[in-house]
Amino acid sequence: MSAHLSNQIAVIVQTVVTLLAAFTVAFWLGLVVWTFRDIYARSRDILALIFAPLLVLILGPAGWLLYLLLRPHRTLAELYDQALEEDVLLRQVDIQPVCPHCKQPVEKDWQVCPYCHTPLRRPCPNCGRLIDISWDICPYCATDVKPALVVRETPPPHQIEAASPPPVEPTATTAE
Ligand SMILES: [Zn+2]
Ligand SMILES: [Zn+2]
Repeated sequence: MSAHLSNQIAVIVQTVVTLLAAFTVAFWLGLVVWTFRDIYARSRDILALIFAPLLVLILGPAGWLLYLLLRPHRTLAELYDQALEEDVLLRQVDIQPVCPHCKQPVEKDWQVCPYCHTPLRRPCPNCGRLIDISWDICPYCATDVKPALVVRETPPPHQIEAASPPPVEPTATTAE
C-alpha cells in the first residue's frame, strides 16, 4: 500500500519536474527568439545578429540581462524617425531666408533688410520682378542687369551732421 503511494508520489514529482524542465526550455528558447527579434529591430550588423541570440542561448536569463545592458539604445525605426525629423527641421531652416549681414529672418520679397538696411533684392529694370542683389542677369526675362546696382547704405541726416566734419571750402591753393 505505502509502496504504491510512494510510487504515485514519484510519478507526480517526475511529471512536475518534466513540466518545469519543458517550461524552462521553452522560456529559454523564447528569450532567444525575443532577443533575435529585438536585435533585428536595432541592428543589421551580421555579427550582432549572431552573437546576441547566441549569448542568450548559452547564458539564458543572465545572458538576456547582459544583452539588455549592451543592446543599441534606439531601434532602426526610431533612428529613421529621428533622421526624418532632423531633415524636416533643416528644411524649415532652409525655407526661412535670413539677412546675409545681420542673420535676422527676412521675407523673400523684401528689397532691403529692415534691421541693418542691407540691400537684399532689387526689381528687374525690364520686367520688374524682384531678383537677388548679386545676380547680373534676370532669371525671369534674361535681361542683362550688369552692372549690379549697389545701394549705398546712407545713415539718417542727423548722423551725418554728427559724424562728418563740416564741409571744407574748396580752395584754389591746394591744386598746385
Ligand atoms: Zn540685416
Ligand atoms: Zn526681368
